Amino acid sequence: MNIILFGAPGAGKGTQAKKLIEKYDIPQISTGDILRAAIAKQTKLGLEAKKFMDAGNLVPDSVVMGLIEERLQEKDCEKGYILDGFPRTVAQAEFLDKVANIDKVIALDVPKSAIVERITGRRTSAKTGKIYHIKFNPPVDENPEDLIQRADDTEEAVIKRLEAYDNQTLPVLDYYKKKDKVVVVDGYRNPDEITKDLIGILGE
Ligand code: AMP
Repeated sequence: MNIILFGAPGAGKGTQAKKLIEKYDIPQISTGDILRAAIAKQTKLGLEAKKFMDAGNLVPDSVVMGLIEERLQEKDCEKGYILDGFPRTVAQAEFLDKVANIDKVIALDVPKSAIVERITGRRTSAKTGKIYHIKFNPPVDENPEDLIQRADDTEEAVIKRLEAYDNQTLPVLDYYKKKDKVVVVDGYRNPDEITKDLIGILGE
């Protein structure tokens, strides 16, 4: 089962992917996470990507395509995977078609008005990787001091990221609609309700 979780920044792709990987025992492949890990390790690729990411721009296609091609060859992808944040351009989608068979694209639909508040309040636990929101989903059993804000979750970068989404990423949805692979899900609800719907769509 090869799935794409599609949606604007802050639509809940990462949150849902983490629930689905538990349920289906397949990996979440997030190009954003892979890039952030490269930045943390201060690799050449990471330092190059950081400039684009911090400014809210997309990293060049050739860079993320190389990362994905390598990642999909790893053993844990044999049973399937959940792509989170890839593809983000039509060129990336065309590339993906050459190296993978995508079964379904699940598009999480969240109103634009909610996105900025969702993203600027988003925090990630440095210890567990869990995603929280300072207002809507504060941590219960984690130390608030362990929570970090992503460098590109500032209001200024979010506005740029939403522009990139509209101009470069939304056309990807049409690409998959033409292939009849898209299911749109209301992403502006309680996360558990959304997960239930996703499992309904993907099957037990
Ligand atoms: P994310 O964690 O998915 O929100 O991604 C964070 C940032 O990483 C994005 O704003 C981009 O700068 C970069 N990025 C992640 N995935 C891609 C991709 N598929 N294509 C280009 N840039 C990406």
